[in-house]
Amino acid sequence: MDKIIKNGTIITAFDTFRADIGIEDGKIVMIAKDIKDEKAEIIDAKGKYVLPGAIDSHTHLQMPFGGTISADNYEAGTRAAACGGVTTVFDFALQQKGHGIVQTAKERDALCAPQACVDYAFHVAITDLRPEVLDEFKAAVEFGISSFKVFMVYKKEGLMVNDGVLCKVLEKAKEVGAIIAVHAENPDLIDARTEDFLKEGKTSAWYHYLSRPEFVEAEADIRAIHWAKSLNTPLYIVHLANKQGMDEVKKARDEGYEIYAETCPQYLHFTNEVYKREDGRNFVCSPPMKAQESQDALWLGIKSGDIATIATDHCPFQSYEKDWGKDDFTKIPNGCMGIENMYPYMLSEANKGRITLNKVVELCCKNPAKIYGCAPEKGTIAVGSDADIVIYDPNKKFTVSKDNMHSDVDYTIWEGLELNGYVDMTFSRGKLVFKDGEFCGEPGWGKLLKRKARK
Ligand SMILES: [Zn+2]
Repeated sequence: MDKIIKNGTIITAFDTFRADIGIEDGKIVMIAKDIKDEKAEIIDAKGKYVLPGAIDSHTHLQMPFGGTISADNYEAGTRAAACGGVTTVFDFALQQKGHGIVQTAKERDALCAPQACVDYAFHVAITDLRPEVLDEFKAAVEFGISSFKVFMVYKKEGLMVNDGVLCKVLEKAKEVGAIIAVHAENPDLIDARTEDFLKEGKTSAWYHYLSRPEFVEAEADIRAIHWAKSLNTPLYIVHLANKQGMDEVKKARDEGYEIYAETCPQYLHFTNEVYKREDGRNFVCSPPMKAQESQDALWLGIKSGDIATIATDHCPFQSYEKDWGKDDFTKIPNGCMGIENMYPYMLSEANKGRITLNKVVELCCKNPAKIYGCAPEKGTIAVGSDADIVIYDPNKKFTVSKDNMHSDVDYTIWEGLELNGYVDMTFSRGKLVFKDGEFCGEPGWGKLLKRKARK
């Protein structure tokens, strides 16, 4: 064996137990009490938790958007991921008009591969569904891309698909063993309300929220769920942030439909009050943070199992870019950061007793791996799984500041957040990539995951 992690308490989605972990060639090869091998490097995890590395199944790295490019390139984003205990990143590859699906993924892979510090995969966002693109779904799944995204919003920006297209891709995806993820908001309402606010001179960040409040997101959630139920197809809703949508997800699941909801740490921690702050523009993302009632509903959804996954929607911009919208919320590039904060935040909430540590592993590791076709290689601690492992110190106090983060962004919305417990070490396929606050991995290490089709 190459390495043995000794004396730690292992946490999976189902179990909490004391055992050692033996690692060889990047894989977990043994889990047992008191493993011995004189050739192996010993890592002492006494008093610590040993968790699967997290999966951030929703990021936008190096993405052209809002008149610029998101501030973390693949190297910075995956470096920050490693430092926050994330060992697999799912990034969105946006189809350009006229391009194919596999072509889209390969183009992004060419950028990502030399930079990636942890393993990664792509969801391809379908923006141009020509008949040959629909025909390509099967080949895409065979290539290892078993998830696609569609936008029900960003009509003016040319990203939106209409309901006819949404229904076509839902059915095709089911046929070939893929899953469709939707960004659900109603574009016509957003555009109409925005136009009115601008005419009335209402231009602060608060009006970003008011241009797309709870009911604007809920309408699209309900519509997407309606189509998925009518066609009996699975559906994954990204960054769910409102109570009415949450209620509809729960109802559909109670009726037996395969509906998955993802939410993000920013919706669990902040409310729409942030848009009244002087720096409110830094919190501008879509969908926006909602009122307390929605946040409470999301936490209840976590407890009831109706929230399937937590991911970040990591899409940061520098403060000078956010400043473009100081006097006009429509000029603020939409997106926030969180790739380094998701796992520590959720684990800290568990440490404070809000949910269990096992629940965090379920939301951040097990479920995304299962839904997106990379279990059991990813998302668990088991013999045969990749040695993507986090050693977590539950007693460490940590205060988030831009100075102790590892991305390229010059501020963080999480500034000043006090956490109970923090990541001590992160291993990516057995390789140490983060230790004692320092990144120690290397760009180019991360590999593209070829994912399995759904059954
Ligand atoms: Zn997103």
